[in-house]
Amino acid sequence: MVQDEFNRLVVVSNRLPVALKKKNDDWEVKPGSGGLVTALAPVLSRNGGIWMGWPGTAEEEDVTGPLNDFSREHGYWLHPVILSREDLHGYYYGFSNEVLWPLLHGFHNRCNFKLEYWERYQKVNSMFAGEIAKVTEPEDYIWVHDYHLMLVAKEVARNKLQRNCGFFLHIPFPGPEIFLKLPWRREILSGLLSYDLVGFQTIESLNNFVSCLEYLCFDMDYSIDGTLVKIKCGDYNTKAGNFPISIDFDEFADKASSQEVSQRTAKLNLLHPEQQIILGVDRLDYTKGLPQRFESLRQALLNYPDLRGKISLLQLVVPSREEVHEYRLLKEEIERLVGEINGQFTEPGWIPIHYLYRSLPREDLISFYMASDMALVTPLCDGMNLVCKEYCVCNYHENGVLILSEFAGAASQLYNDAILVNPNCVYEVAEAIRRAFYIHKSERQTRMQNLRKVLKEYDIHFWLDSFLQAAFYGKAKECPQAEIYRYLSKID
Ligand code: UDP
Repeated sequence: MVQDEFNRLVVVSNRLPVALKKKNDDWEVKPGSGGLVTALAPVLSRNGGIWMGWPGTAEEEDVTGPLNDFSREHGYWLHPVILSREDLHGYYYGFSNEVLWPLLHGFHNRCNFKLEYWERYQKVNSMFAGEIAKVTEPEDYIWVHDYHLMLVAKEVARNKLQRNCGFFLHIPFPGPEIFLKLPWRREILSGLLSYDLVGFQTIESLNNFVSCLEYLCFDMDYSIDGTLVKIKCGDYNTKAGNFPISIDFDEFADKASSQEVSQRTAKLNLLHPEQQIILGVDRLDYTKGLPQRFESLRQALLNYPDLRGKISLLQLVVPSREEVHEYRLLKEEIERLVGEINGQFTEPGWIPIHYLYRSLPREDLISFYMASDMALVTPLCDGMNLVCKEYCVCNYHENGVLILSEFAGAASQLYNDAILVNPNCVYEVAEAIRRAFYIHKSERQTRMQNLRKVLKEYDIHFWLDSFLQAAFYGKAKECPQAEIYRYLSKID
C-alpha cells in the first residue's frame, strides 16, 4: 500500500477546500465539491492529514474555531494560511493570475511582468513554507498543488527542513519560446527542480518542461525510467511525469442516474423536442475560446442553412475574476456576440443561443449534460478540461457526441472517439457541428461507449494512486496518453 509509506499526507494549495460564509456572527463552513477533494479526503483522514491553504477570508477575521470544528468532523486538519490584502494583490491577482496564468497558457502578450508581483509571490511562497515547518514532521508527505506555489519546496529546503515534497501542475506548461519570456524563468525552474517529483497533465507539458531545462541548465542530463523522466541539473535531482487528472466516475454516473436528475432532464427535453442541443460550459476566461465558439456557430448557420431551426447552443458561462478589467471586457464581448447572432438568425419558435451567466447547482449541471445532444468544448488552451469528461460520464444513454479542442489536455486521452477540432478555425468547428448533427445513432453510441470506458478506467482515484506510486516507488501507473500532434494528420 502506497499509503503506508508516509505518516500523514499534507496537501498544500492556494485555497482551502471549503467555502466560509458569515451568517450573522457565526461562520458556516461548507465542504468544496469536486473530484480532487473526494479523492484526497480518505487518504487525508488516515492518520489525521492536513490541508493547508488560504481560507478565502479577510486577514482580520479569526476563522480558526469553525475550521477546527470542520476538521474534527471530517478527520483531517484544515490549516489556514492568512494572507493580507497586499499579499493577495501581488501574489494571487498579480503574479499568479496576471503572469503565470497567461504565460503558461501561451498568452504571453497578456502578461504583466511587474517586479512587485514577483516579490510578493516569493514572500507568500516563503510564508507557506514557514507554515509547513510549523505543522509537519519529517515522515509526512507534502503534496503542493498548482502554479500559485511553485517555489514552496525551494523555500522548505532554504529553511533546512528535510521533507519529501511533490508538486502537481493543473495547468499546461509551455515550450521554451513562450516560457523563456518570463523575467524570473531561472528561479521558477529551480523552484520546480527542488521538488522530488513534478507532475504534469500531459506528455507535451512534460516535454516542454524538459526542453526549457535543456536551454537554461548547462549541465542538464535526463534519462527515461519507465513512465518517469529522471532529471539531473547541477545539484538538483528530481523526477517528472505525466498524470492526466480526472473526475470521480462513480459519483457523476450515480448522480446522473438519480431520480432527481432524471426529472430535471425530462423537463429540459420537453423544451426543445425538435432541436439538437449543443452544450457549452465554461468559466469566464480568455483561454476558453468563447468568442471563437460563437463565431463558429454563426459560420455553421451561414454555411449550412439546413441546421437553422434544428440546433441551439446552450451556453453556460460561470462568473470568474470579475474584478479584473480584462474579464469584464470579455464578458461584454461575449454578450455582444450572443445578441448579434441571436438577432441575425432567430425565428419564431427558435433561438440559436441560450445564454446563462451564473453558476449552477451540480444536479442542474448534470441534467444539462444529459439533455444535450452534443458538447462543444473548444478551449484555445486548457490543462485538462473536466467539463468534457463530466459530459461523457453523465451520458450513460450513450447518445451524445463530444466535439473537443485539440488544445485541451483531455484530447490526449479522448482523441479516438471525440471529434477533434482546432478552435481557431471557425470553418472546421462549423463543419464538426454539422458532422455531429448528422452522425448516425450507432456511431454516436460506439464513440460514447469508448469514451466512457477510458474515463471509467482512468478516473481520479487512478490519478491519485499513480502520483503517489511515482512519489514512493519511482514508478507511475501506466496510463495511455497520446502526444496529440504526433497523432494528428501529417503534412502530405
Ligand atoms: N462547474 C461548476 N459549476 C457550474 C459549472 C461548472 O462547479 O455551474 C464545474 C464543472 O463541474 C467542472 C469545473 O467547474 O468540474 C470546471 O473545470 P474545467 O477543468 O473544465 O475548467 P476550469 O474552470 O478548471 O478551467
